[in-house]
Amino acid sequence: MATIDLMDKLKILADGAKYDVSCASSGSFRRNRDGIGNAASCGICHTWTSDGRCVSLLKILMTNSCVYDCAYCVNRRSNDVQRVLLTPAEVAELTIGFYRRNYIEGLFLSTGVVRSPDHTMELLIEAVRTLREEYRFNGYIHLKLVPGADPLLVQKAGLLADRVSVNLELATRESLALLAPDKSRDAVVEPMRQVNQLITVNRAERKESRKVPRFAPAGQSTQLIVGATQETDRQIVTLSEQLYQRMELKRVYYSAFIPVMTDNRLPALPDSPLRREHRLYQADWLLRYYGFKAHELLDEERPNLEANLDPKTGWALRHLELFPVEINRADYEVLLRIPGIGVRSAQRILRARRQGHLGIDDLAKLGVVLKRARYFITARGRYAGECAIESTLLRSRLVGGTVRKGGIQLELPFSQPEAHGDAISLISGEL
Ligand code: SF4
Repeated sequence: MATIDLMDKLKILADGAKYDVSCASSGSFRRNRDGIGNAASCGICHTWTSDGRCVSLLKILMTNSCVYDCAYCVNRRSNDVQRVLLTPAEVAELTIGFYRRNYIEGLFLSTGVVRSPDHTMELLIEAVRTLREEYRFNGYIHLKLVPGADPLLVQKAGLLADRVSVNLELATRESLALLAPDKSRDAVVEPMRQVNQLITVNRAERKESRKVPRFAPAGQSTQLIVGATQETDRQIVTLSEQLYQRMELKRVYYSAFIPVMTDNRLPALPDSPLRREHRLYQADWLLRYYGFKAHELLDEERPNLEANLDPKTGWALRHLELFPVEINRADYEVLLRIPGIGVRSAQRILRARRQGHLGIDDLAKLGVVLKRARYFITARGRYAGECAIESTLLRSRLVGGTVRKGGIQLELPFSQPEAHGDAISLISGEL
C-alpha cells in the first residue's frame, strides 16, 4: 500500500464504514475509576436523543482491504478502490485524539478481512487493548467480530468491548451463498451463539462476585440487508424474532440495500428500499416493546408489510372485532395494541386513570396520537371516530398524506422512529 497521510486514511476508512448501520446507543454503563471516559447508558452513535442531543462515536474500518468478495460491498476484493490500513496503534491514537478534543464519545470499529479471520481479529483486539490498557480509555467501544475467527479471540474481544456484533447480512443461507459466497451461515451464527452463552455465564458469575470482569455488557447486535435478495418481510421479521428470543440480541438493524455496485447477482433497483426498511423497524419495535409476535404481523398470505400503513394499524384493521377498546378499563397489554398509543402513553393512561375516568380530550395531553387512536377507542363510553368501525372506511382515513424522510416519500400517518438510532430515539415513536 502506498504511503498515505493518517487523516486521508481516516477519510477513506470512515467512508467505507458508512454502510454498516449496526451501531447505535450503547445501553452500557460503566463507571470511570482511574481511566478516561465513561460508557454511559445514553446513545453513542451519531443520532438524536429524545432531548435533542446529538451523540457521536468514531465509526471507522481498520482496513477497507478484504480477501472476500461480497457482491453488495464497496470494499470487496474485486472492486477497484484505494486500499488503506490503520495499524492498531493508529486506531488507538486517533480515537484518543478525537476523544480528547471532545469530538466523540466512543468508537465503532469494523474492518474488511485481511489475510484471515484470525489475523484480522487479532489486529482489532490489539487496537482495543491498546485503548483500554495503555490509554486507560473507559469510553464505549463497539467492536465487530469477524466470522470464522477463533472462539478464544471472540472471548477476548467481548472482555474489551462494550458491544460486539457480527453481521448476518442476509436472512437465508441461500442468499448468503449467492451474494457472500466466502462466508458460511455457520461461521456467522456461531460467534453469535458463543457470545450469547458467554454473556449468560458472565451474568451468573458476576452475581457471585462483582470482581469478575464484564463480558460485552451492552450485548450484541447484528445487521440485515433488505432488498438485495428475494426474502420476504415475513422471513426477515421471523428471523429477528428468533434472534431476540434465542440469542438475546439487543438490536437487529435493517439496512436498505444501496445499489452502489454493479453485479449481475444484484437487483437493479431504481432507489434504495428505505420505505421497506422503515416498516421493518416499526415491526421490530412491535416485537420488542409491544408484545407482538411475528406471526401476528405477517403470514403466508401476507408475507410483506404494507408500504402505506404502519404494521400496528394494519394489524388493528385486520382485527376490528377487538375494537373499540374502552380506554378506562383496558389492561396495559391491550392499550399497547391500540394504534396511536405507545409505551409511554399507555403508562401515562394507567397512572392518570388512578385519578379518575379519562375523556377523549384528556388523551392528547397524555401523548396519545388521536388522529389514529380515535377510530379504535371509546372514552367514558364515547366513540370519537367520525365513521363506522369498518375496515375499508377506516383504511381510507388512516392512509393519509405523504412526508419526506431520508429522501423518499413516506405516507402519513406513521410514527417516526430514528431508523439507525436506539431506544432513546425510538422510544418517542408512538406506534
Ligand atoms: S467480508 Fe464482505 S461485507 Fe465485509 S468487508 Fe469483506 S467484502 Fe465487504
